[in-house]
Amino acid sequence: MNNKYDVIVIGAGAAGLMCSIEAGKRGKSVCLLEHTSKIAEKIRISGGGRCNFTNLYSDDNNFLSENIHFCKSAFSKYTQLDFINLVKKHSIEFHEKKLGQLFCNKSAKDIIEMLISECEKQRVKIKIETKINTLNKTKDCYVIKTNTGDLFSSSIVIATGGLSIPKIGATDFGYKVAKQFNLKVTKLYPALVPLIFDNEMLEFCKSLAGISVNASVKINKTVFDEGLIFTHRGISGPSILQISSFWKAAKPVTINLLPEYDLDQILKARRVETPKQNISRILSDYLPNRLAEAVCNKLKINIKIADTSNENIKKISEFVNQWTVIPIGTEGYKTAEVTLGGVDTKEISSSTMECKKHSGLYFIGEVLDVTGHLGGHNFQWAWSSGFLAGQNV
Ligand SMILES: Cc1cc2nc3c(=O)[nH]c(=O)nc-3n(C[C@H](O)[C@H](O)[C@H](O)COP(=O)(O)OP(=O)(O)OC[C@H]3O[C@@H](n4cnc5c(N)ncnc54)[C@H](O)[C@@H]3O)c2cc1C
Repeated sequence: MNNKYDVIVIGAGAAGLMCSIEAGKRGKSVCLLEHTSKIAEKIRISGGGRCNFTNLYSDDNNFLSENIHFCKSAFSKYTQLDFINLVKKHSIEFHEKKLGQLFCNKSAKDIIEMLISECEKQRVKIKIETKINTLNKTKDCYVIKTNTGDLFSSSIVIATGGLSIPKIGATDFGYKVAKQFNLKVTKLYPALVPLIFDNEMLEFCKSLAGISVNASVKINKTVFDEGLIFTHRGISGPSILQISSFWKAAKPVTINLLPEYDLDQILKARRVETPKQNISRILSDYLPNRLAEAVCNKLKINIKIADTSNENIKKISEFVNQWTVIPIGTEGYKTAEVTLGGVDTKEISSSTMECKKHSGLYFIGEVLDVTGHLGGHNFQWAWSSGFLAGQNV
């Protein structure tokens, strides 16, 4: 049995598959190890089952990292157009949903099948259900001890992703390897994740669970204008997932539930135009009925607009246009789309993805401290960093 390979890639997700294909194209013998029974599970569940596989406008501005310049080299070597061309070559139909986000028309499985067929073409050996017991460096090469035997290679690529959704295979393997080899790992947080509340605010959100609005959500100078949805635990939706990457414990989040209107002006005008209408009735011209009622009930102001003081109009408008909340936390890695932070990019060469201190050891994809905004950017990072390592292993 062959147990020596030119390259061993650990983690058969987006980045690991891309790296294996590219290394294979260069004539390298590649073994791709996956500890679960299925490869690319995150691709399968991504984008609501349709995989938002890239973004037309993806560039370094869509990423968070202690070194925001780190990702530039990978993006310049393998762009979204390169991945789109691959998708087109496999006749996978796709569409732009909004804001440059590209989704499969049919299913995320199309992307997985494409990657598997490219791996087959390059004779990548994919070994599923392979548990790695140890990874060590000897004088000549790296040795991996697994449940199915020992493997040897002079190039090891760590593509084990982040901590989100442990039930489909996420582990801290990559961070542990980094620590074993004395590499710094930045602080890790669940990101692109719903925010949660307790007490009164929780009851308020629960009573509105399922209701969505377009909102403008802000922390300091960072603003996202997208959908917000109330949940049984707090708030979610694209704008909240986006801002969660910027949120730290005890920080307030300011939410404009009606970003296109100045409610104070509207209510003052309606006091003249429709004096007999109740405030909640007026609000429901702009907000979903249940939300309009809940706001008025929460503030205990639900009277005819004619009888409403300027002070009470201000209270209502501030609640709607400048709702300031302090979440008690996030839903955590159980539902987060990504892990913010990771292996410190200072440890890695941005032009090869190789570790500066240990030749032959590479890190790619989400395990690194490179975290994209929502909208296909995280997959683009996986493709670009996987491609770059594939050219250099
Ligand atoms: C619900 C959800 C939806 C998402 N939707 C999108 C989207 O539409 N667009 C987008 O751009 N991003 C999306 N993301 C984020 C995106 O999926 C990830 O950023 C991306 O998959 C990271 O790729 P990766 O290859 O680095 O890691 P992963 O895709 O997580 O792959 C890592 C692989 O390593 C394996 N592994 C872990 N530990 C070990 C070990 N010890 N031994 C062997 N194998 C191991 C895992 O099982 C997994 O197969 C979504 C994430 C989630 C959770």
